[in-house]
Amino acid sequence: MSTATQHGAGTESSVGTITALVKSDPSPGLGNVSVARLPEPTPGPRDVLVELIYAGLCHTDVAMVDRDAAARGGYRPSFPLTLGHEFVARVVELGSAVPDMIGNGDADPGLQPGQRVVGGSHVTCRRCSRCLSGRSMLCENLKVLGLDIDGICASRFVVPAVNIVPVPDSVTDETAALAEPFAVAVHAVERANFDQFPPGYLPRVAVVGPGTVGLLVQCALGEYPVTMIGTPADADQLALARDLGATACLAIGPDDSVEQAFDVVIEAAGHHSAVATAVAACTDGGTVVCVGLPAQPTPVDTADLARREINIVGSRAYDLSTWKIMGERLAAAPQLERLISHRLGFDDFGAAIELLRNRQAVKILLDPAARTTDAS
Ligand SMILES: [Zn+2]
Ligand SMILES: [Zn+2]
Repeated sequence: MSTATQHGAGTESSVGTITALVKSDPSPGLGNVSVARLPEPTPGPRDVLVELIYAGLCHTDVAMVDRDAAARGGYRPSFPLTLGHEFVARVVELGSAVPDMIGNGDADPGLQPGQRVVGGSHVTCRRCSRCLSGRSMLCENLKVLGLDIDGICASRFVVPAVNIVPVPDSVTDETAALAEPFAVAVHAVERANFDQFPPGYLPRVAVVGPGTVGLLVQCALGEYPVTMIGTPADADQLALARDLGATACLAIGPDDSVEQAFDVVIEAAGHHSAVATAVAACTDGGTVVCVGLPAQPTPVDTADLARREINIVGSRAYDLSTWKIMGERLAAAPQLERLISHRLGFDDFGAAIELLRNRQAVKILLDPAARTTDAS
């Protein structure tokens, strides 16, 4: 694993300006992405100004840089746009109304200057029926940091107070940096509805796809025994899954069959063939949770679902309420930081995107304080 040569708060040399990773226009590629100096943002009344400790990168950032179908289809960015949506940061300043939000359910009462925080990237209206029904990820007015509006790859940035929660002292900066994708995994487990099983019954659980999301789902499953299912090309990732505690790891080739053995199967590969594998691995009466976003539609035999009484549910990111438990979930998952394969500086963003494109990285952190890097 790489190590950053410097890290810490107080990285700004020019008062009133920040450093940010900015994509200047919608054209694909890295040519229009640069490190820019911008005026420091001012928090609105219900916002918080924070200082970035680490940003995390994922394939959504690659899609945003490349402006591929996934990015163009789902988001409506305006440019220039500050990139990034995964963060751990430190509170600098609370907006004027934030203290009044504390205690009435709108913001975490632990928010105060100096506090480390993590949070979701969904800026939601909190008024529409979906927000009010506890499905803020489906907000009719949803805007996502780094995808629709300015994101978090900035030495300082502003985020709504309702989006962030304090990080327990026992959690390292590195573990906390994985909070956003870990919340995606925690929500996928919520969607599996483990409460459906009678007390004393230990459900058999499989995860399809040992990529970063699949490994995070494995970690979010906590004490449940997990079988990780990948392909023969996933040998390294399956080994990592085993190191992280998977009970069994299966490499399934195109001609291999998989046993219908699992009460819960979480599909995290994002490839259409993985959905078929997940349904095939699901036992009668079981539940398949679809987290992955295959690029093409996936045919499903609904007669098979009916005969076998299989539930298929989708899982998109997280609700704001998911974040209420993320502090304790992070504290219980110190192994998350083993997913970090690289720590790089903002200047290395192009190299980071290439590492992700070429599937040479698991989780890359960007350290805004790193001036030089020692990548592996
Ligand atoms: Zn992400
Ligand atoms: Zn809404």
